[in-house]
Amino acid sequence: MQHIIDRFISYVTVDTESDPNSDTTPSTAKQWDLANQLVEELKAIGMEEVTIDANAYIMATLPSNVEHDVPTIGFISHFDTTPDFTGANIKPQIVENYDGKDIILNKEQNIVLSPGYFKDLLQYKGQTLITTDGTTLLGADDKAGITEIVTAMEYLINNPEIKHGKIRIGFTPDEEIGRGAHKFDVEKFAADWAYTMDGSQIGELEYENFNAAGAKLTFSGKSVHPGYAKGKMINSMLLANKFISKLPKHETPQETKGYEGFFHVTGINGSIEETKVELIIRDHDRKKFEKRKKTVEKIAAKINKKFAKQFGGPIVSCEIKDSYYNMREKVEPVIHIVEVAEKAMKELGIKPIIKPIRGGTDGCQLSYMGLPCPNIFAGGHNFHGKYEYVPVESMQKAIEVIVKIAELTAAKK
Ligand SMILES: [Zn+2]
Repeated sequence: MQHIIDRFISYVTVDTESDPNSDTTPSTAKQWDLANQLVEELKAIGMEEVTIDANAYIMATLPSNVEHDVPTIGFISHFDTTPDFTGANIKPQIVENYDGKDIILNKEQNIVLSPGYFKDLLQYKGQTLITTDGTTLLGADDKAGITEIVTAMEYLINNPEIKHGKIRIGFTPDEEIGRGAHKFDVEKFAADWAYTMDGSQIGELEYENFNAAGAKLTFSGKSVHPGYAKGKMINSMLLANKFISKLPKHETPQETKGYEGFFHVTGINGSIEETKVELIIRDHDRKKFEKRKKTVEKIAAKINKKFAKQFGGPIVSCEIKDSYYNMREKVEPVIHIVEVAEKAMKELGIKPIIKPIRGGTDGCQLSYMGLPCPNIFAGGHNFHGKYEYVPVESMQKAIEVIVKIAELTAAKK
């Protein structure tokens, strides 16, 4: 256990915050610090074909130790942390034998991690938790995943009696700003399938995510002196308001769960002459997703029809762009890759929690790039903020899941 803690701490104490406003890959130069450290470590534990490309994508191989043909499997994590909360000067705190009570993260600032608010804490009574000091995030998302993959590879190298096929591992920058997969060289990785170790609580196994699109609408108007505006003025802000009011009222993020999709207005910026509305559209079901996009277009078309004559042309333009799709489409034809992970968990006494993701993962993009890629728990909770924590026992179990999947994949049928 100490080995896992030490390794994890050696990663989270390196600041790797990514930056959505940068065009480079990695988006921040400091991500190289951990990337270079990881390359050295992978070589030191005896991984082969350790490579890092110009964009800081790391890949490495653990060769097969069996004679018969076994599919090549991959394990993937990201080493950046979210720009939503500071990841500099992380001072992890270790809570041994957690007693189920409040954890004081920071006495001076009165920051408390309480099971009264975060009920999940109670399932880890008696375990060792790693928390923040209340002033930063922890970075278990996704340095827990990296810790687990490196430790599992080290374990397989040190225990050659465990039989496995060829294993490829991949560490990426910039996942948190949605750019973890886009420069991932799937061909070079050359695995039959892979898993991102990037889920939250122990047992999570995910292979369904949203279909996602973003819409940008621009409403035009006509500004006239308000005292003389009758029959002349068109206020684009009111048109935008009309549009939003026509969206299905209860299909918003705050009123939906599970497989329910939504429309989510993310921004409005307007004046009388011009108002821009941005929204995102989400649905697990591809048909319903397409229908949602049509709904947006239809409402815009109606407003156009109603005001085109007065305005003298189209008064609203609507631009919809798909962002990503549900990986289920790509994973279902090879569902055995989910089943083997499920079996691995069950054999280790872990209850698989299989549920649709209400978002996307790097794995969904990779799945559409030709690498089917479900997501497995990395063990952490409360990502992207100061209440983030990870039970060391969950990391230990994730390591065992990786080893077990490798073993089961290589088992002769
Ligand atoms: Zn993550």
